[in-house]
Amino acid sequence: MVMTQAATFEQLWSAIADIGRDPTTGGYRRFAWTASDESMREWFSGECAARGLHLTEDRMGNQWAWWGDPDSSATGGVATGSHLDSVPDGGAFDGPLGVVSALLAIDRLRSAGFTPQRPIGVVNFVDEEGARFGVSCAGSRVITGVLSPDRALALRDADGVTMAEAMRAAGQDPERLGPDPEALARVSSFIELHIEQGRGLVDRGSAVAVGNGIWAHGRWRIETPGEANHAGTTRLTDRRDAAIGCAQAVLAARAAAEAYGTLATVGKINIKPGGVNAIASSATAWLDARAADEPALRATLAQIEAEVTRSGAIMAEESWTPLTAFDDALVRRLADLLDGAPVMSTGAGHDAGILANAGVPAAMIFVRNPTGASHTPAEWAAPEDCLAGVEALATVMADLAGAEK
Ligand SMILES: [Zn+2]
Repeated sequence: MVMTQAATFEQLWSAIADIGRDPTTGGYRRFAWTASDESMREWFSGECAARGLHLTEDRMGNQWAWWGDPDSSATGGVATGSHLDSVPDGGAFDGPLGVVSALLAIDRLRSAGFTPQRPIGVVNFVDEEGARFGVSCAGSRVITGVLSPDRALALRDADGVTMAEAMRAAGQDPERLGPDPEALARVSSFIELHIEQGRGLVDRGSAVAVGNGIWAHGRWRIETPGEANHAGTTRLTDRRDAAIGCAQAVLAARAAAEAYGTLATVGKINIKPGGVNAIASSATAWLDARAADEPALRATLAQIEAEVTRSGAIMAEESWTPLTAFDDALVRRLADLLDGAPVMSTGAGHDAGILANAGVPAAMIFVRNPTGASHTPAEWAAPEDCLAGVEALATVMADLAGAEK
């Protein structure tokens, strides 16, 4: 049955507010193929069914819901949406704001009596944050062929569970994983609405901005070897302490980022055996590095690598996404439609960037975030700004789906 009464932002928002929320930290733990992720997917399919949208899954299990049939449209459809998973102790807005806004934009267009000339799609990309298996945007990377199924399925979470096992446990079929040109061909353009992850909009007097690109960024694993021994009996000169090399890696990242005007962060460390009174036998540090300037980023990485290899560590690339420029014409069209909303790029990766690099014309809409807090429960957008985001998305979708480009 198709819903006749449009839902309010508050209705949709409160329905998912408690899913995967840790009551002690207030943060969200919605990791791919876990029970909370499954609940979010069920919520999504329920909302799509309530709107009479046709729900499909691609070869990675990304959920696509269509208003109109993209396969019978010569030009494909116009898609929007985002992701519903989270980082560890993430905020409520990163991801879900784009999905909720997409559903509400459809409600708004229907209430206004709008009939799309081209199908409109809403997507929920799986495993965007890479919180569980370490590779961000796994959902879009697999269907675009950037991440091979073999590599994806062999990735392991902190408990040693492979992605293949996690998918199977969630009732998904890992065998079907692979590039999905058919699913991508349905998308003639993709607009992802997202909470801003910084303070670019605070002083600009605008609730929304148009995103025109994503900085080059990637993740590296730095493994430092050592030798386990007793912390109370082993002389300092006799030690091979992996924690020291790991600490040097953290400092090297900071120094190189300062030298080249880039960003480099070690936010995750695993020290083994992990006893207070044991010298570390190995240490793994994960490095995240980003920059608007790709050569500067490469220089940053070269400096870090030179530094860490001196302590016997090896640095391995886990993911790399080149500088992504969104579709110029699309960005200009959005800026015009949104009354000259500011245009800005971001240091955060998104599925929109992966699609853009695969040749899908893409752009983003950012919603103001007063403190700029991101990937923490403190992340927030004012209710009126969220509504302005819905309005902006409805305006853009109406234009893209209502007229030929
Ligand atoms: Zn996000």
